[in-house]
Amino acid sequence: MSDVLNYHDDCLFCKIIKGDIPSAKVYEDERCYAFRDINPQAPTHVLVVPKTHIGSCAEITGDNAALVAHIFTVVARIAQQEGLTGGYRVVSNVGPDGGQTVPHLHFHILGGRSLSGQMG
Ligand code: AMP
Ligand code: ZN
Repeated sequence: MSDVLNYHDDCLFCKIIKGDIPSAKVYEDERCYAFRDINPQAPTHVLVVPKTHIGSCAEITGDNAALVAHIFTVVARIAQQEGLTGGYRVVSNVGPDGGQTVPHLHFHILGGRSLSGQMG
């Protein structure tokens, strides 16, 4: 159970961070939370989210850039923890055309198989 800054009542990932909806936790600190995707697209599929509600990459500004940079250090740490020595992919879908289904900023970490090929 964690506090969510700028909590949105109707946001699935705010509810997951708060512990109102269960999730398989992979990593947590005071600024971000990581958990396994419920519908994995690769052997490792982890989502990393800030503990404050930011809608998507489109809302990254100078004010929250340090938080986003921190999340990328966590991405690297999780990839190491998950043993993704052969590499991995980091994805953040933005808006309807980007295929975003949950409007709370999240970074997918995908790995554990070869992902070479089509990007989109
Ligand atoms: P996106 O489509 O980029 O917005 O990513 C949203 C991701 O959230 C999808 O990959 C879903 O499988 C995942 N997802 C949806 N609900 C849950 C949940 N309750 N627990 C874990 N992952 C979820
Ligand atoms: Zn949210």
